Amino acid sequence: MNMPARPQDTSPKALPAALPGGMTRIVDLSYAINDKLVAWPGDERVFEAKPNATLEKDGYFTRSFWMLEHYGTHLDAPVHFPPGKTTVDRISAEKLLGPAVVIDVQAESAKDADYRLTVERIARWEKQHGTIPAHAIVLLRTGWSSRWPDAAKYRDQDVAGKMHFPGFSLEAAKLLIERGVNGLGCDTLSIDYGASADFPVHHAVLGADLYQLENLANLNSLPEKGAYLIVAPIKLEGGSGGPVRVFALLP
Ligand SMILES: [Zn+2]
Repeated sequence: MNMPARPQDTSPKALPAALPGGMTRIVDLSYAINDKLVAWPGDERVFEAKPNATLEKDGYFTRSFWMLEHYGTHLDAPVHFPPGKTTVDRISAEKLLGPAVVIDVQAESAKDADYRLTVERIARWEKQHGTIPAHAIVLLRTGWSSRWPDAAKYRDQDVAGKMHFPGFSLEAAKLLIERGVNGLGCDTLSIDYGASADFPVHHAVLGADLYQLENLANLNSLPEKGAYLIVAPIKLEGGSGGPVRVFALLP
């Protein structure tokens, strides 16, 4: 036979066909990790990578790295704040997948850097899109990612060092816990708003055995409803959290 070999299909169009349930696109919601990301104030040593094997010496390339568990796009495991107990490696895989609920508060946040998501705003989302389903992962889109990775703008500290960026209110978090969601996420340094001194949302959410995603990227690419999330944190035994890769599948 003289038939030419069938060329391998390497076109990008080959990918969507492999996605489940009518999903056609993937968006990566994680920032790449390096030593120049916006750290929590007071965290000095954040990330280091060193060559371990080099092409010149060893014929192959590997590195070693060191980093904080809570740096860049990361997941807070329940054990991060009391009364939470679960470490990052013990979060069940089932809880790491779920429909994305995106609550857009960019207008509110532009007017007030200390804005906290209200129960009324959630009611408005539910009026438009239906009750937030159990197992959803609720993402707060504040617009703060447009300031990334400018630490001064992203932290927005006043002369006393207090930070100013939006977040969830305790009341809103309690309502979402009642709805049975898997976790909460945001495009800022913390689920609690920047000026918080006692982190009530951390205590409530992690205490309810949910996880939190912080410093998420590309939330602007997501619809308010209809995306599906794959949350893939490092499986670090005993970890309080760690770097996380978050993928959104879009219809
Ligand atoms: Zn954290």
